[in-house]
Amino acid sequence: MIRCDLHTHTFFSDDGRQDMRVMIEKAISLGLACYGTSEHFDYDYLARKLPIQGREMRQIDADAYFSRARRLQREYAGKIKFLAGCEFAYDNKPLAQDKYAEAAEKYAPDYIINSVHTCLGKDCYFPEFFAGKSKTYAYTAYLYRVLESLEAPYPYDIVAHIGYCSRNAPYADPKLRYEDFADILDAVLREIVRRDKILEVNTSAKTAGSPFLPDTDILQRYHDLGGRKVIFSSDAHDDARIGDKRELVSAALRKIGFTRLTLPARAGETGEEL
Ligand SMILES: [Zn+2]
Ligand SMILES: [Zn+2]
Repeated sequence: MIRCDLHTHTFFSDDGRQDMRVMIEKAISLGLACYGTSEHFDYDYLARKLPIQGREMRQIDADAYFSRARRLQREYAGKIKFLAGCEFAYDNKPLAQDKYAEAAEKYAPDYIINSVHTCLGKDCYFPEFFAGKSKTYAYTAYLYRVLESLEAPYPYDIVAHIGYCSRNAPYADPKLRYEDFADILDAVLREIVRRDKILEVNTSAKTAGSPFLPDTDILQRYHDLGGRKVIFSSDAHDDARIGDKRELVSAALRKIGFTRLTLPARAGETGEEL
């Protein structure tokens, strides 16, 4: 049974819907041994002055986040290993990259999840990104951005939700399949292995056409290419989804041949058996 979930959001994130203490209590009630919040740092939006659904993105108050998280970390020691992480949304603009590097240095988060939300100047979750683009065009653009994100000049541990572009895509068949994007996916997976990063299996798939991101065909290929570092993530934005589909992920990973989950070394963790 999987007993970790390090990709979650609370009120400190623009789209978080729950208080940190409630989230920690829920993680304890689920029997998790290791739980983390990975609040959004949306410097991709900041660097490009992108609005979100017609309003300005609320950037994180990082001082407030880390001071509360460190306080709760001390309070809950002995009950659960609570970690304070970040989700950095990659952008190639120097402004974003400098701010991420600065935040990593200043706050020393327990771990950093590197993700791609935007490419071609838009968030690949919202309909505006897909307007006028075929699935091949949209997904290829997204995957090239993921490849580029692996070269981020700031430290990170985990590669987030590969297939994010399919979460809310308007296509009749939105699923991101290995066979349709084999070349670029191979480049991405090889680079993750080469850089010794942890590949996330994210169960916030929404309408992606698969139960988690990336799906088993891509995870299988990662394993074939020598990738062994995987982690479970619910990407919960409220307490209801913490640990969501962990049995399913555990079974799928074991079937492929993975034997353990890898937790970020910076968090003083190694991993757990599947
Ligand atoms: Zn994300
Ligand atoms: Zn997230």
